[in-house]
Amino acid sequence: MANYTDLANLIFPNIIKTIDDLENIYPKRNLPEGAMVTRFAPSPTGFLHTGSLFTSLVSARYAKQSGGVFYIRLEDTDTKREIAGSGESLIEQLAVFDVIPDEGYISDSKEVGNYGPYKQSQRSEIYNTVIKHLISIGRAYPCFCSAEELAQLRAEQEANKEIPGYYGKYAKYRDLPVDEAIARINNGDSYIIRFKSMGDHNNKVSFHDEIKGDLELTENDQDIVILKGDGLPTYHFAHLVDDHFMRTTHITRGEEWLSSLPIHLELFDAMGYERPKYAHLPVIMKVENGNRRKLSKRKDEEAAVSYFLEQGYPKYGFIEYLLTIANSNYEAWRDQNLDKDFYDFKLSFDKMSLDGALFDIAKVANISKERMAYKKASVLCEEVKAWAKSYDEAFYNKIIADEAFFTSILNIEREKEKPRKDYAKYSDIYPIISFFYDDVYNQIDKANLEWNPQMDKADIKAVLTDYINTMDLSLSEEDWFNSIKALAARHGFADNIKEWKKDKEAYKGHVGDVSEFLRIALSGKKNSPNLYCVIQILGKEKVVSRINETLANI
Ligand code: GLU
Repeated sequence: MANYTDLANLIFPNIIKTIDDLENIYPKRNLPEGAMVTRFAPSPTGFLHTGSLFTSLVSARYAKQSGGVFYIRLEDTDTKREIAGSGESLIEQLAVFDVIPDEGYISDSKEVGNYGPYKQSQRSEIYNTVIKHLISIGRAYPCFCSAEELAQLRAEQEANKEIPGYYGKYAKYRDLPVDEAIARINNGDSYIIRFKSMGDHNNKVSFHDEIKGDLELTENDQDIVILKGDGLPTYHFAHLVDDHFMRTTHITRGEEWLSSLPIHLELFDAMGYERPKYAHLPVIMKVENGNRRKLSKRKDEEAAVSYFLEQGYPKYGFIEYLLTIANSNYEAWRDQNLDKDFYDFKLSFDKMSLDGALFDIAKVANISKERMAYKKASVLCEEVKAWAKSYDEAFYNKIIADEAFFTSILNIEREKEKPRKDYAKYSDIYPIISFFYDDVYNQIDKANLEWNPQMDKADIKAVLTDYINTMDLSLSEEDWFNSIKALAARHGFADNIKEWKKDKEAYKGHVGDVSEFLRIALSGKKNSPNLYCVIQILGKEKVVSRINETLANI
């Protein structure tokens, strides 16, 4: 009579390594006490989800702040959903947000570290070694169930109002005598491999999650598939093998995996492996019509990290936003430590939100605005240039044609105690400042400028003409403003708004109206950056020619 070992040898004749060999090849890591080994394990399905960036950022921070290792493993066992090349683009997008692995998958032709391969599709020998062991100890078995048989099982369970799945008495091939299994394999029957569960769904398993605390979960009793028909492992089984042999200490993953945790605990226990610590991170949610739902890649543009890259949110704004989601005390810390790098903040599991974090794009914009405002113009210029190079060619060409000019535009009301907070993202900049460029200014329809209809065109003309005749670029901002007040007064406009409010009839308008004439003439718009700075940057020649062109069209 054949035994389990015969069955294991028949199924895996070419596997000669043992699990002890694997223990030696992938030994425990030599790290200081408390150092965490974390990982990010994306599937190459075509795009980086905002929730995945959050998870990977948090995982990487925990490893870094504890002096441990953060690695990336590519989970490419679902060949149907795989999009070629998307593993590499994930790595590129992660790198934009400083999520850079110490170890693991780097590109399709490169990986670093001693615990690889880091691409699941290349780890068959390792999975098969563990499965061979499980079969030989009677904890895994071949299942010959056809699709029809499975459908029949399901119908039976429905009729009996029983829990669906492949377990207990419904696990048809669980107790198939080894001789029969061998005969069927020799006969060429197709099969997959299942784990033999010893659990009972009437029992509870206690467990401590680093974020959620002590939990009681229903024990697993399903004989889950561990090796699929295509020879690749399922997620559950690969998690066991990879996280054990890559020596992950903390599994930081989305809380959607919490429900399958009992399977994972049973797998670790069956192998006699130490369970890793688990930290199930909140899933990023959105409120729609008063209901919370997961950020969906089909419905929400903000579900894809590429959206933020295209829009040009600065990476530091986005990272800080994610840190506010990660830890409830981050913002208070930030307010106290404005001069510090945000990476000086130490993340902690006990400050993690317990239920889904709500995504708030307005907050991303606010944080970005705050942080961008304090960047030096020269630094911001480099950031904008790098962004425009990929996402806005026309803008990029403008920048590189004269970087000093562009930097002086960026420097308007910057590098001072209370800088202006105009920009939340790089793509906000060009629409606000494009009028500085002559080709853009020349395209403005001067016959249809937004003059205040209360104003007399003759007065507008007189004010503008007077300005070009008297303008003085050497004035300080304060003196310049006084000169505008004087200009206003010369033409019957109140030189301050309070006076005008007291007796509106006595004036044609006020100094604000006069500034607006200049602003419209120089920028074509009623809103522009600080007018004094606009005039300084344009210089006398352009100011005169723009005003003359405007005058010719009033
Ligand atoms: N490949 C899995 C996913 O993308 C990984 C989950 C985990 O971190 O364990 O959801």
